[in-house]
Amino acid sequence: MVARELQGIGMTSEKTRRRLVERLREKGISESAVLEAMAETPRHLFVDEALSSRAYEDSALPIGRGQTISQPYVVALMTQAAVNGKRPEKVLEIGTGSGYQSAVLARLSDRVFTTERIGELARSARQRFHRLGLHNIYVRHCDGLAGWPSQAPFDAIVVTAGGVVPETLLDQLAEGGVMVAPEQTGGHQRLIATTRAGSGVLREDLGAVIFVPLLEGVE
Ligand code: SAH
Repeated sequence: MVARELQGIGMTSEKTRRRLVERLREKGISESAVLEAMAETPRHLFVDEALSSRAYEDSALPIGRGQTISQPYVVALMTQAAVNGKRPEKVLEIGTGSGYQSAVLARLSDRVFTTERIGELARSARQRFHRLGLHNIYVRHCDGLAGWPSQAPFDAIVVTAGGVVPETLLDQLAEGGVMVAPEQTGGHQRLIATTRAGSGVLREDLGAVIFVPLLEGVE
């Protein structure tokens, strides 16, 4: 059943997926490893079956509990900035959601540690990873604002909810590592890539984005 499902939809969506990847390339995603990881990740398996026909449109989609799976272009942009032309050993993600961003990162790094504050989403993402054989993703149901201190430092940190990023997270970034986060200022969010360089940091603005809010505590 699972095999047929993976194969059946997988086969037809392979072409649609390639088309999406072409669009991402046109929009400026240039890192071939990132494009390849996007091509290999079956996004339709990260959304509700009723929405699977829309899985390869370049748009965010609802995943329940008022949350969304990010737009593929934004996932590619964040991944490209986080990976930064290397192969990170350890990546931390805040906001597992559907698990799609983690699955893309899992193809480009050794291990992904992902945190989700909503228990139900953490559980279903864990099941998806298991079903897809993605054994290098570790999911924790917790408030990700505290990071994952026992696994720090991380070569990359990806925050997939918009808000004010606490210093605690930046402290868990390795030297030369990059943190990508939608930072909220006033009513606007900008995607910021922060690179730890020596005693300081370099900040790069990757543009305007719209993410669900970064919230405290667990549900
Ligand atoms: N990366 C996800 C995007 C999910 S939307 C994907 O690819 O599908 C952002 C997610 O961040 C939501 O599921 C939300 O519950 C979660 N979130 C918000 N604040 C959080 C926090 N402090 N810690 C952990 N997760 C958080």
